[in-house]
Amino acid sequence: MTTYLKKKNIIISLFVVAAFIGAMLFAPQMAKAQENTKIVILHTNDEHGSIENFSKIAALKKQFENNSEYDDVILVSAGDPSSGNPVVDEYVIDGENLRGKPMFDLMNATGYQALTLGNHEFDYGQERLIANMELANFPMLLANVDVDTNEADMPQPEPYTMIESVNGIKISMLGLIQVQESGYPSTLPKNLYGLTFLNPMDTLKEYTHLKDESDAFVVLSHVGHNWDQEAAEEVDGIDAIIGGHSHTVVQNPPIVNNTLVTQAGGDLEYLGKVTLTFDENKNVINRTGELIKLENVEEKDEAVQEKIASYQNDVEEIFSRELAYVDNSISGNSNLGALMSDAMVNSKEIADLDYDVDFAFQNSGGIRVGSMGPGTLTVGNIFELEPFGNNIIIYKMTTQQIKDMLATNYKRDNSIDLRPGGLNYEIIVNQVGDVKRVVLNDMAGNEIEDGKTFTVAHNSYVASSYNFEAETEGKNTYLRVNDTIIHYLEDVISSEKLQSFYAAQDLNRTSVAIEKGGSGEKVAYTNVELSTIGKATGSVSAGNLFADAAKEVLDVDVAAFPSDQLATGATYPANSDVFNESLGMLYSSFGYDNNVTIATVTGRDLEKMLLSQARYYGEGPVMTHVSSGTEYTVEMENGEIKDIKVYLNGERVSPNEEYTFAINSYVYKYYADAADPISSKTTNETEEEILLEYLRDKGTITDAVMEERITIE
Ligand SMILES: [Zn+2]
Repeated sequence: MTTYLKKKNIIISLFVVAAFIGAMLFAPQMAKAQENTKIVILHTNDEHGSIENFSKIAALKKQFENNSEYDDVILVSAGDPSSGNPVVDEYVIDGENLRGKPMFDLMNATGYQALTLGNHEFDYGQERLIANMELANFPMLLANVDVDTNEADMPQPEPYTMIESVNGIKISMLGLIQVQESGYPSTLPKNLYGLTFLNPMDTLKEYTHLKDESDAFVVLSHVGHNWDQEAAEEVDGIDAIIGGHSHTVVQNPPIVNNTLVTQAGGDLEYLGKVTLTFDENKNVINRTGELIKLENVEEKDEAVQEKIASYQNDVEEIFSRELAYVDNSISGNSNLGALMSDAMVNSKEIADLDYDVDFAFQNSGGIRVGSMGPGTLTVGNIFELEPFGNNIIIYKMTTQQIKDMLATNYKRDNSIDLRPGGLNYEIIVNQVGDVKRVVLNDMAGNEIEDGKTFTVAHNSYVASSYNFEAETEGKNTYLRVNDTIIHYLEDVISSEKLQSFYAAQDLNRTSVAIEKGGSGEKVAYTNVELSTIGKATGSVSAGNLFADAAKEVLDVDVAAFPSDQLATGATYPANSDVFNESLGMLYSSFGYDNNVTIATVTGRDLEKMLLSQARYYGEGPVMTHVSSGTEYTVEMENGEIKDIKVYLNGERVSPNEEYTFAINSYVYKYYADAADPISSKTTNETEEEILLEYLRDKGTITDAVMEERITIE
């Protein structure tokens, strides 16, 4: 038995050797062709200027290449590497427009082999697109466009590419882009001259011959995941649709009609990995897909990482591009919001799209700095002011629709949020906060009539997240708010106007008039008007009132209320009852149930605290309202706050003496940062409870709260 087995083994071995020698002599690739071939297609889409993770993709690509499980590795993009990061979008070096370059250079270094043109590839204009196409070491594909080369600057892109892989396997890749009802992809139409875009489904059907001409037919679709699934259903013979545009994270790619349909999210959060397995006849016998979360990948390719770092260094140069100069700062939501919305109203780029914008609105939450300047304003300042890159969306709205929107928006937190351009508005509420009406005035102060229709610009955040009705659907201009502000400063507004208009004064385009009416829980009576108007440039009665209340209730030397916690532009009528329900309309911080912190500080530290806060917020020279018996002077020099001197009962506070100081517990930490408080404790009562106790006890608010306790020198 044993002998027989041995003999058989020998015979087999001899046969293998013979076969091997035969193969060597006559058909070198035959041995390999007996096995299955596994080809990995790595893919990304909608990278949108995210440059950080290319080094991880390059490292992963090498790992898969070195992994004997796979026979070949291909890397592709389903479009939209452009737009979304100033490093890429504002890449202007030494005055030379190189927008988009960092992305395509990094894609070269990472080893991309094909890309389908996404809608945002047109954002920088055709000239930049041509330059980026020339820079790319890989084809930038697009099948569903007809380029009229007499009109357009760009050439007709290749519709598809044929990638020759191992073992003679050929993979065809077809590029498609989304087309809106307007006939254009989502980008600035003015960049699309000479281009006719075709229905992607019709185009796909014209290219089904690719499945016969290649061993695997792959579609790089920048159309969107829903469409991709429909296409897989409708067109037979596609092996994989690698998608983009909808930013869909497809964790477990479905197989639809034998087609794997996938997409890798966006912003280089994921690397997609499609594995196609071919049998010895080069037929696809298996398709799998998965996503790799790049956050969890440690490995980085060093050469690519160095390139990324050098582009990140260039950001400094881009951000330092100078746009304008101001002697005083442009400060606070009111003035910064006016600048942002005026930029939209007066945009030449929007006018070029044939929109004559009457009004624009900027939400306060989207104003991301407290002030800009004094000094040179740069591209970097504007990207800090509006870091989101929101687009501008155009609506037709009637007078009533605008009023309704503003009333709804005010009611959300009993405060002004939308900063207008092209108009001023006043919200009129009764004493318990019911909105009675909204008055719109044009910039000359004339009331805007009812029954008219206006062209209104919103940023894309307001357009998608706020409640309002309009006569038309929003039309996306694909212009960004931050670019529009840059153009406004560079090309539209003179430096004199910038200086005298936005930087010099407190622009009060919005106000809240609280008028008599409504009934609630009466807590006091006021002889005087309670106001927050001018809260950043001097004493206001609402600020003084709270400071007086806290001083008396908490028995401290100095009590205070910070101006940024007061509602903007609000007035409460004199000679009227004050209701519990009225207070939140004057004091914004009451919505947060803050307590009060009582600190013991030296006179020197008290002055330092007020000084640092006045400077930090940059909302004009004054921001801390103080209690009766306290006064302070603000010394200005060249538009900047130089010093603050505090006087208690007529005498300057002594540097080393200790004083008790009370202020909102939330903002206290910022005050304390500037000084070295000796001790501090926080009250159990909220600010609102302290004021209520004071008002109930006192009964009547008198003209003591009208005192000017702040002097600017
Ligand atoms: Zn897109």
